[in-house]
Amino acid sequence: MRWGLLRIIWMPYSKVASHRRVSHIPVIGLLMRTAYLCVIVAIPIAVLKAFGINVGFKNLRASSAHLISFALGMLVADTLHIVLDLLTSAFKKLISRLR
Ligand SMILES: [Zn+2]
Repeated sequence: MRWGLLRIIWMPYSKVASHRRVSHIPVIGLLMRTAYLCVIVAIPIAVLKAFGINVGFKNLRASSAHLISFALGMLVADTLHIVLDLLTSAFKKLISRLR
């Protein structure tokens, strides 16, 4: 919902992987989202290429250290999200028991 108009990008994904379900399996959820975003990015690039428009990724290079840092950053952020969701659920359950 915080993506505004761009939330249309996530609509197909959210229909398949609703929040706190398969998307919250560590590593699996991250790989699913990464693969999904790769497809979402690849579609307009393929369309542009079909019309003869060069997107210009030829000069885009990343070292293995950058890729590993990027992957670890995504993994840490994803894991923290899952842990926060678990803590939030546990906290809400505790509060409901105390009432
Ligand atoms: Zn979540």
